[in-house]
Amino acid sequence: MQTNDLPPIPESLIGTLLAARHVVVLTGAGISAESGIPTFRDRAEGLWTKYAMEDLSTPAAFRRDPALVWDWYAHLRETMRQAQPNPAHHALVELAQRVPRMTLLTQNIDGLHQRAGSADVIELHGNIFRAKCDSDGEPVEGWEQSHETPPRCPRCDGLVRPGVVWFGEHLPSAALATAEAAVRDCDVFFSIGTSSEVEPAASFAPRALDRGATVVMVNLDVRTSAAAWLYRFHAKAGGFLPFLIQTVWGV
Ligand code: NAD
Repeated sequence: MQTNDLPPIPESLIGTLLAARHVVVLTGAGISAESGIPTFRDRAEGLWTKYAMEDLSTPAAFRRDPALVWDWYAHLRETMRQAQPNPAHHALVELAQRVPRMTLLTQNIDGLHQRAGSADVIELHGNIFRAKCDSDGEPVEGWEQSHETPPRCPRCDGLVRPGVVWFGEHLPSAALATAEAAVRDCDVFFSIGTSSEVEPAASFAPRALDRGATVVMVNLDVRTSAAAWLYRFHAKAGGFLPFLIQTVWGV
């Protein structure tokens, strides 16, 4: 493994990880960047550069132009379908096998953790491969066979929308409750590839720290805020996480 560019891992963190009881990992768009999925800031590429995210990822945008929003998500869905899990996703599968308990929380909608083999992933922002009725929020099946843009709900003929959480919407209550319980219980909290600007997930790390957990950040961007981090690693997740696992557990 090429380690020249990777930050050293302090002995104190190695000891903490070897003794960890419950590790919580929060991932954001950055962990999938090396799989070729643009992060929030990068993703309005190509055809879509003329649109602001408010024109694509809000309930108001869908009300204004449902076909535009549906088409944007269809485009993103294809990008995500073609992407493959990268070494960072695989390293988290490995991590779960090394510690007594791990809870994986993701803000990503791409399903790459599950495709890498992670079980029981808590999806805070939904999943782009699912869809729901815009009227009652209930899941809709069979929409992929529809030729309408967007498809219609087979129950009420309402519009079908992507099964993701948009800006200004609440997180799914069960996922949020599981996440909050895990944040209260954990003794180590990892924040990986997230700008920590989107609530409520942004406050998970400070809350874990307040309760005495060790907080570890892995992010490419040195400007990422949060004074709370105990350990900050400025590195690409796909290079750093396998290195961390190998350093701590020798695998
Ligand atoms: P963000 O785009 O706001 O932040 C991404 C972070 O990842 C940045 O801080 C960046 O510095 C960091 N980063 C980029 N490449 C990295 C790498 N190789 N290794 C480590 N860090 C790296 O994303 P966010 O905080 O997750 O929030 C934006 C919202 O948009 C979330 O809801 C998210 O689900 C959604 N989103 C999801 C996907 C996806 O499912 N893959 C992609 C784009 C956006």
